[in-house]
Amino acid sequence: MSTGATTDGRLPTAGRNAVWYDARAAMPLLSVRHLSTGFPMGNRWVPAVQDVSFDIAKGETLALVGESGSGKSLTAYSLLRLVPPPGRILGGEIQLEGRNLMDLPEAEMERVRGAKISLIFQEPMSALNPVLTIGSQLVEAMTVHGLGGANPRATALELLATVRMDDPARRFAEYPHQLSGGLRQRALIALALCCRPSLIVADEPTTALDVTIQAEILNLLRQLKHDFGLSLLLITHDLGVVAHTADRVAVMYAGRIVEESPVRALFKAPAHPYTQALLRAMPGSTHSARRLEPIEGQVPSLQQMPPGCAFAPRCAWRHDACLSEVPAMYAVSEGHASRCLLVREAQQLAADHAAGLPTD
Ligand code: ADP
Ligand code: MG
Repeated sequence: MSTGATTDGRLPTAGRNAVWYDARAAMPLLSVRHLSTGFPMGNRWVPAVQDVSFDIAKGETLALVGESGSGKSLTAYSLLRLVPPPGRILGGEIQLEGRNLMDLPEAEMERVRGAKISLIFQEPMSALNPVLTIGSQLVEAMTVHGLGGANPRATALELLATVRMDDPARRFAEYPHQLSGGLRQRALIALALCCRPSLIVADEPTTALDVTIQAEILNLLRQLKHDFGLSLLLITHDLGVVAHTADRVAVMYAGRIVEESPVRALFKAPAHPYTQALLRAMPGSTHSARRLEPIEGQVPSLQQMPPGCAFAPRCAWRHDACLSEVPAMYAVSEGHASRCLLVREAQQLAADHAAGLPTD
């Protein structure tokens, strides 16, 4: 299979970069390769998600992080083949348990949405039916999927207890508008669990909630992942949410993944200048100065993507090559890669040094 994370022939160490994400565990639950999704603008298709590749193992949480407009939600919708028209998937592969979802007939895709991948949104009201009680929505969802057993009401009550609803019997009989934001999000999580999915895609699940409730919901997701062996794609614009919830992080900028890393390595040694800038802007981070530094400049618009690295116009480290060449993902360490020419240069210097060549 050809991939975008190509080997750079010039480098003696290029082997390290060869499709670095393909060297992972035998069969990930979800494997996304070269996903591009875009919109028609004028007479062409403009990608808003471009060449996105990542894996999620069984029981693993991958956080997809980036500023608003970086393409996180579109990535999520693409996984479910629910890209809002006139947008559409322009290319790539999405393998779930070894099946390419792109090839499935719509009826089968429907079953995947119901039974394998559940989506949780930022605003639970939009996903809950306002005229049905929480209990009847759960019972209905279980019935549709042929689950729930002989006594769906009892199973629904159990689910409400699983998502740590206080007084499940009372909540069972309540309507969505009677619940607080946090309880509504719990109800939505219960609904997402109805079909026993293997993957939950949570798109900014705590963004609308206050900090205490946010922590409770993240705790709950962590617990569910542990108890049910669920995999989680946690989408957030908030790096603070990531540290205690995710195993790995993929940072998105202007439609591309620019850095991917185990969570600890990302916070300890961020490799991409954009991630470094995000961390400097994060309150309480060890990388932040006492005063928060906003990232200067703006995210480029889809119609005016710079030809090289999309972050180059805002990057303090840019040089000429960055303005014309889109970098590949270069391996920094085990499982950690950065879409930045600086990494390639560092590797080049190290290789020259090892070969006894002058390094300047
Ligand atoms: P995020 O979730 O990271 O905030 P989105 O995935 O929602 O970002 O959107 C990524 C980009 O795709 C946006 O910046 C926008 O330019 C474009 N986009 C999203 N929806 C539409 C649409 N319906 N029509 C045209 N462009 C869109
Ligand atoms: Mg979004």
